Amino acid sequence: MQKIELILQKRELSFDDIVRMLASSKEEAQLLFNKAYETMCRERGDKVYLRGLIEISNFCSKDCYYCGIRKSNNNVKRYIVTDEEVLESARYAYEHQYGSVVIQGGELSSPAWTERIEKIIREIKKIGDSSLGITLSLGEQDEETYRRWYEAGAHRYLLRIETTDRDLFAKIHPADGNHTFERRLEALYLLRKIGYQVGTGVMIGLPGQSLESLARDLLFMKEFDIDMCGMGPYIEHKETPMYAQRHLLLPPLERFFLSIKMVAILRLLMPDVNIAATTAMETLHPEGRALAFKAGANVVMPNITPLAYRENYLLYENKAGVLDDYEVARSKIISDIHKAGLKPGLSEWGDSLHYKRRTGK
Ligand code: SAH
Repeated sequence: MQKIELILQKRELSFDDIVRMLASSKEEAQLLFNKAYETMCRERGDKVYLRGLIEISNFCSKDCYYCGIRKSNNNVKRYIVTDEEVLESARYAYEHQYGSVVIQGGELSSPAWTERIEKIIREIKKIGDSSLGITLSLGEQDEETYRRWYEAGAHRYLLRIETTDRDLFAKIHPADGNHTFERRLEALYLLRKIGYQVGTGVMIGLPGQSLESLARDLLFMKEFDIDMCGMGPYIEHKETPMYAQRHLLLPPLERFFLSIKMVAILRLLMPDVNIAATTAMETLHPEGRALAFKAGANVVMPNITPLAYRENYLLYENKAGVLDDYEVARSKIISDIHKAGLKPGLSEWGDSLHYKRRTGK
């Protein structure tokens, strides 16, 4: 087997190199994390950008086998945050120098929803005279909807491909024609055509997912030339079909370490993209966020959903920080950023440098 030290000196990483890094021991992985952290600081700077996350609704028309808010889960109390509350959260983000907001929710598609989101985007843009950057994460939509939201002022979109392994994708989604890999990929192309900074990502540690499959996911991101990435460990949820396969999962800590190895390798493959330290990482490890920064993540999304709704947006179990007070959460995040030797990019959009280079904008 090739030594990790040698692989880390290479300019171009091959598929085999990536698989080897994913399989690295704890000590070897530390070398990988150090190299990724150095690469991030050199190529992307030493700042972590903050995006206040508003979980706007848990209504969902999809029925993904892994997700706690899937359509068929009748135990979920469904909600939509009122427009005024969304704006209050956005004002909180502005006042606390979060720089950007992310509006995320289950997948809803209707003329009324398109219009409602469009209106909210325009209202958020008025706060502090266009001070806040806006990322959307609202699933697959048609071109017209994506375009209207873009024209209203949203400029980044997150849509995870979930896995690029077609067989695995088919196993974790219903075969109803409404959950196809092709449609998801098509949506990513539409987003890019319209002009968004495009983010994607995968779940890590799915039952039946191999290291080779994860290596192909990373190469897909490189080949698609993504601007941003949000990925994290798969975590089980009792009220989903995939719960039955939980005996196949890696132990939580191993799943966590595999996830930050994915972050580190992506940082080496694509030094100038934005990569998020995700809530699922925090859920599996008490120091998850700081460790993700030390492995090359440079974005974090503090939850600013009004507290009354939070318990109803559980994609997986034991989600970290569900009932954390805003201020406590804020100071914890800032302290994690400092702990990792980095600085918070206060009141900055922190756009993807990769996007700027790719488009010349
Ligand atoms: N509905 C939107 C966004 C909300 S879900 C969309 O489809 O893009 C955001 C992400 O949460 C999903 O893309 C998925 O990768 C992740 N997720 C869902 N269930 C999960 C689980 N059980 N464990 C870990 N991540 C999960």
